[in-house]
Amino acid sequence: ASRAGVLVKGSNYLEALSRVRTVVFDKTGTLTQGVFEVSAVHHNRLEEEKLVEYAALAESASSHPISKSLRRAYGREPDRRRVDAIQELSGLGVTARVDGVEVAAGNDKLMDRLGIAYVPCHKAGTIIHMAVNGEYAGHIVIADRIKPQSPEAIRALKEAGVRTTVMLTGDAARVADQVAEELGVDQTYSELLPAGKVEQLERLLARRSSRKETLAFVGDGINDAPVLRRADIGVAMGALGSDAAIEAADVVLMDDDPRKVAKAIRIARKCMRIVYQNISFAIGVKMLCLILGALGLANMWLAIFADVGVMILAVLNAIRALFVQK
Ligand code: ADP
Ligand code: MG
Repeated sequence: ASRAGVLVKGSNYLEALSRVRTVVFDKTGTLTQGVFEVSAVHHNRLEEEKLVEYAALAESASSHPISKSLRRAYGREPDRRRVDAIQELSGLGVTARVDGVEVAAGNDKLMDRLGIAYVPCHKAGTIIHMAVNGEYAGHIVIADRIKPQSPEAIRALKEAGVRTTVMLTGDAARVADQVAEELGVDQTYSELLPAGKVEQLERLLARRSSRKETLAFVGDGINDAPVLRRADIGVAMGALGSDAAIEAADVVLMDDDPRKVAKAIRIARKCMRIVYQNISFAIGVKMLCLILGALGLANMWLAIFADVGVMILAVLNAIRALFVQK
């Protein structure tokens, strides 16, 4: 698994991986690239540049992919001395004081919470509403792209025997449904706050038909580290993922390729198959030799085979685990 770029933090997780029937994905940064491009800016009271500047400054302390994208759209390194009182509200957005002016940047729910009337947007994408001094100032539309490997990742999971694929996201339903349809994910739950993601995961865990089936959650750890912990197997993105995610996860994918989830499941299945073959083979041969010995039909050479021979055959069988087809 390491050679394939999958770091498994213990043999118990390999065993759990071999019994996965449900795989739950986070959207941003997991199935999508998490690199947003600004596709439109709709403003009413401020210049377009000013709106983007306020957004970038207010977002200057956040590590969310959205923040990074807004800073990139601004084009310069935001001057942190102009910003204070930054508050990041997970799953909602940020509020901060920029040049002494109150700025809020976030989704519909953030505007509702602040009691600010916003103008809905017809454009496809994630909408970042902006409020300046408690008044609505427009929105920035940003769009993310699906990772090119994601459709195949979902298909490969089905082939590997996973029954249900689920996507959880804090993003708007419209964006979530579009991504889900493009990828062929079975179930989608959108507009979830971090706590809502945990609740939804609990519900999915309770819905399993048997205790033997396991559920894996794949995420980047931004707003979903608690979910990573709660799932039977937490899988984190190693490159894009936060340190908290890599810490909380049981399996880490080195290069953020979601197809590696199916690969890890296949490796785990093959490994478990070999383990059970070796256990039954070794016990079977030894029992047979015991019986033959008791009947006076076994000699010393058979005893040596039952001991050393069986060990060598089991090791040779185990070497097969090094080869898992593509
Ligand atoms: P996902 O589940 O897709 O990874 P998150 O839970 O991280 O998404 O965020 C959900 C939504 O909350 C985002 O789509 C965005 O509207 C809003 N949001 C979260 N963090 C920020 C931020 N730093 N700035 C602006 N909006 C944010
Ligand atoms: Mg996320």
